Amino acid sequence: MKKILDSFLSFFNSTKEEAFYYVKMERNEKCYCGSGKKYKSCHYPDHQKRSKIAVRKIDEKTGEVEIKVLSIKKLRKEHFRVRSSIS
Ligand SMILES: [Zn+2]
Repeated sequence: MKKILDSFLSFFNSTKEEAFYYVKMERNEKCYCGSGKKYKSCHYPDHQKRSKIAVRKIDEKTGEVEIKVLSIKKLRKEHFRVRSSIS
């Protein structure tokens, strides 16, 4: 019984270490690349062609923001990490 509990706890801890979520970049936002253009008229068309999307990866603990370009497929797989806005 203790073994099961331990494995459960280690599983819980390992998922806890990955405490982050994604917020999709809005098309009307300024592009992450710093061009000053909106995402939709900068990197968005290229991402769309390649089935990718820019997201902010936000660390839940530190609030650190990292820009990532992920495939839509991967994002669908990790849909549980996607939030509509920064909370
Ligand atoms: Zn750009």
